[in-house]
Amino acid sequence: MDGIGAADGLPLAGRPWHSDGMDIVDKARRSAMMAGIRGKDTKPEMRVRQAAHALGFRFRLHRRDLPGSPDLVFPSLRKVIFVHGCYWHRHAGCRYATTPKSNADFWQEKFVKNQDRDRRALTDLVAAGWDPLVIWECETSDAKVLSARIASHLGPREENDLQG
Ligand SMILES: [Zn+2]
Repeated sequence: MDGIGAADGLPLAGRPWHSDGMDIVDKARRSAMMAGIRGKDTKPEMRVRQAAHALGFRFRLHRRDLPGSPDLVFPSLRKVIFVHGCYWHRHAGCRYATTPKSNADFWQEKFVKNQDRDRRALTDLVAAGWDPLVIWECETSDAKVLSARIASHLGPREENDLQG
């Protein structure tokens, strides 16, 4: 992959540095959109898609009929992959999972809801016989490591071929 460095690994969801109140949401959303425009092909989800595709796996995207609408769905393997932004999904111990200083309560509540939703989605998926993998945004910058992780989650490609 092209030289993806630390700067590129910044959370796409945009972080509210300044400003207070609901305006923050708009700002965050705006900068997320900007980030999307700027680096579409380097977005974490795109990196994961490319890696899975390069490994020869076929997948569907964002199946809304599954808990949490997983980003990548491998129906014949009954496996899914979520690509989580470190900021919004609160990657534990990650340097990108910062907490805004202003409106801390507002954000805390938002983050807790996100985490609850994520946990529930994983539980429901497992209960329904799916095998989920969460890949964090900050874990997508090294293409080799990413590819190996995806491969180990999905198993050997031959298996995939056999299952159609
Ligand atoms: Zn992270």
